[in-house]
Amino acid sequence: MKNSQTFNCDLCDSSNYTVLEVARKYIGDNEPPVVCDNCGFCYVRQRRPAKEIAEDWNNIFGEGYTSEWPGVKARLFYVAEFFDQNYGWKGKNVLDIGAGEGTFLKFIQQRDAWVSGLEPSLENCNKIEGLGAKAYCQTIEDPVPDEKFDVVTILWTLENCQDCMRMLRFARECLKPDGQLVVATGSRLMVPFKKPLSSYFSKNPADTHCFRWSKKTLARILNNSNFWLQATNDYEQSDCLVMVGGRGYCVKAPFADRATAVIDFFNRWDREFP
Ligand SMILES: [Zn+2]
Repeated sequence: MKNSQTFNCDLCDSSNYTVLEVARKYIGDNEPPVVCDNCGFCYVRQRRPAKEIAEDWNNIFGEGYTSEWPGVKARLFYVAEFFDQNYGWKGKNVLDIGAGEGTFLKFIQQRDAWVSGLEPSLENCNKIEGLGAKAYCQTIEDPVPDEKFDVVTILWTLENCQDCMRMLRFARECLKPDGQLVVATGSRLMVPFKKPLSSYFSKNPADTHCFRWSKKTLARILNNSNFWLQATNDYEQSDCLVMVGGRGYCVKAPFADRATAVIDFFNRWDREFP
């Protein structure tokens, strides 16, 4: 792709990888993701600048996607409930990175959180302000807000950015010293198949979905970014993976998947649920 840059593994910086050949039949002319031979992370190597990827997402959103869809609304509600039952939202100052139309902010506002959304789309920022919430109309490439937060949430967004480490560094800088980070993703690997592989992959440009996480690789990137793991949801019985990390001292642990196991997982998915 024009303008694109080649990336090594975001988790361990290895340049040794195996191409995920089984993806080819589902992704049109796109370059397939690769699996890191060292840590099993599944990622896209060729990526355009962040702004171009964000523009694509605006177009994809423009084609009718809305967080008001029952499935989308339900998964955001699930995250709101999961955190509420474990830690509580009441009185907390929360920033949602990639806040979209503000559906999640609305849920936690009802649970007495003070909410802000960081969101590049002006139209969405207007909707967020319509909730009486603060909108930061920007991307993570722009400066970090002066305000500091108790909780930062990154929901169904980390897999779609250009540089996941950069997004997590940004999130960390937005937090108070004892703040918490919540990451949720539907791109789960090494779990029961929730849908046909043909709907898991898409023909959208490969770098609109650069990363696909298992429990171990998501734990590792939080760990790399100096968050200690506080909670993980029951991700095998749910269709999303939710992790809560604490900002603070963190012992480094080299969580990893075996690359061959990740490739086998996709091959089995292709055979059993194409
Ligand atoms: Zn790696």
